[in-house]
Parts: sequence; structure tokens; C-alpha cells
Amino acid sequence: MSINFAAFSNQDIIAALQAQVATGDVLTDQDTLYKYSDDQYSVVDQVVLPLAVIEAATIADVQAVLAVARQYHLAVITKATGTSVVSGSRGRSGAVILSLDRMNHILEVNPDDSVAVVEPGVINNDLDKAAREVGFFYAPDPGSKNISSIGGNVSTNAGGMSSVRYGVTKDNILGVKVVLADGRLVTLGGRTLKQAFGYDLTQLFVGSEGTLGVIVEITVKLSPIPMGTPLTGIAFFKDMADLAKGPGPCVVQVSTQPCWKRSTQQLWLLWTVLKARTTLTNTRRC
Ligand SMILES: Cc1cc2nc3c(=O)[nH]c(=O)nc-3n(C[C@H](O)[C@H](O)[C@H](O)COP(=O)(O)OP(=O)(O)OC[C@H]3O[C@@H](n4cnc5c(N)ncnc54)[C@H](O)[C@@H]3O)c2cc1C
Repeated sequence: MSINFAAFSNQDIIAALQAQVATGDVLTDQDTLYKYSDDQYSVVDQVVLPLAVIEAATIADVQAVLAVARQYHLAVITKATGTSVVSGSRGRSGAVILSLDRMNHILEVNPDDSVAVVEPGVINNDLDKAAREVGFFYAPDPGSKNISSIGGNVSTNAGGMSSVRYGVTKDNILGVKVVLADGRLVTLGGRTLKQAFGYDLTQLFVGSEGTLGVIVEITVKLSPIPMGTPLTGIAFFKDMADLAKGPGPCVVQVSTQPCWKRSTQQLWLLWTVLKARTTLTNTRRC
């Protein structure tokens, strides 16, 4: 159910959105509202329909939506692929959902500068695959890598197994373009690791979950693909001190949960060991 504000009718708001959003679509049919309001990963069952869903296709569309929202005092929920497990991108009464699914273009993959520039709706794995075609890869690898977007990853500072070696999303983001609540577009950060002046506003947006603005373009750092063949294995350690002696340079995931009904005293360690030569080579190249 949508709220009717005293000063503005829902028809006025939708008409304004339709007039201002030039390339994308303003959708109000019940099926679409329901589809975008729900997400299968949320712990909350209740679905609340918004006033409209806007499928933005360009930065200008995003600017238009935020400008109209400001004019009509609307809440805007930015939605990428909706894999957030905390209901961050679900529908809300009287709000509009701003979908970035269609802004899914890889704008640049540049092996010379070790960077890529993407629209927010690009799926993590698609960027990674494109980078691998030129000898690089995109390191942040949340479990949702195949289904979540780079914009969503930045907004939640997502990370996975590779974070032990390469850091989480915040460690792999060089710059962003953001549309602020009044529709203004700002560019933060850049393409280089060395950006030592002023406040680090890029990092302010990492993990901000859409509360500060809408991220519409992202410049990411790419890493060279390590040479050699990764090996996978499982090892057991009797305590943390033993684990700390460690298996050497590797990527690890540690669990203190019992594994295959073994004693809870044991620690389960799953690791992908890079050959020593590979790790050294890779370290030099990074
Ligand atoms: C099977 C599965 C495995 C997962 N594994 C991991 C994991 O290993 N590590 C981990 O960290 N998380 C994990 N997650 C959680 C989830 O995948 C991440 O939070 C992911 O980064 C969300 O991306 P999304 O594209 O789905 O964003 P959404 O869920 O659509 O949005 C997430 C939040 O960011 C905001 N947002 C999205 N895009 C933008 C934008 N462009 N500008 C501003 N705000 C925006 C939304 O409003 C919302 O608040 C997992 C989830 C699932 C379902």
C-alpha cells in the first residue's frame, strides 16, 4: 500500500518521474512492484510494495530520480541484485525502488594501469572473467560472487576467501562516481593507488549501504593472476597457537566449528596453497 502525502498525489509523483527519467523505465504494475520489493535471501518474509520501480539505464536517470525524490520528499531504495541478507534493498511503503540492474556495462579493463571501470550493476564474476582475459583478476570474492553486483559489493564492503591475501572490497576500490541526494554527480578518488590529499571520501561510501548516495561508476584495482597451479587441502590443528605456526604463504579459511563430527577442540583449516615460487613472484609483481 502506498502513502498519499497531503501536498502531492501519487499520480503527480509518478508523472514527474516519467517526465524526468529519459532512458530508463518507470514501472508501477503490481507484478513488477512485488518482484523488486521481495528478495529471496532476506530473513524477513513480509513484502511491502513501493510507489514505483525505476529501472535506471544511465547516470542521468539516477540523477533525475534523486532530484524528483528530493522535490517530493520520497525515500529512495537503491537495489542492485538483492542478495543482501539484511533486507537493505527491500520495498518500503511510499518509497521508490531505484534498480541498477540495467547499468551493467564494463566500461574499461586496462592491464597497463591494472584498473577496470564498471557500472554498478556489473556482476562480480563477469568483471573477474573480463580481467582474467588480459592476465588479471578481480580479487574480492564474496560467496555471492556469481549473483551480486560490484555496486552492491562496494555498498556492503563485501569480502570472501581472497580477503586474507588481497583484502576486502574496500582494499580494491580506487574511485567512485556518486549521485548525491539532490541529484548532483560527484567524482571521488581516481585511478591511482597514491591519492594522498584531503579526506578519503571514496572509503566513506564503501559500506554505506546506499545511505549517502547512489554509486553509479566504480574504478577498481586489478591484481595479476598468480603463476603456478593452486593446490587445495585440509589440515587439522589442535589449538590456535599451533595454527599460528601456520602452513606458510596461503589463503586460509578457519572454522572453530566441528567438522564431520570431529572433536570441537580441533580447528578446521581449509586452505589454497600457492607454490612458494608463485607467491614470491606474485608479491614482487603486486
Ligand atoms: C549466497 C550468498 C552468499 C553471500 N556471501 C557473502 C560473502 O561471502 N561475503 C559478504 O560480504 N557478503 C556475502 N553475501 C551478502 C551479499 O552478497 C553482499 O552483501 C553483496 O555485496 C550485496 O550485493 P547486491 O548486488 O546483491 O546488493 P543489494 O543486496 O541489492 O544491495 C545491498 C545494499 O547496498 C545498497 N546498494 C546496492 N547498490 C548500490 C549502489 N550502486 N549505490 C548505493 N547503494 C547501493 C542497497 O540499497 C542495499 O542497502 C552473500 C549473500 C548470499 C545470498
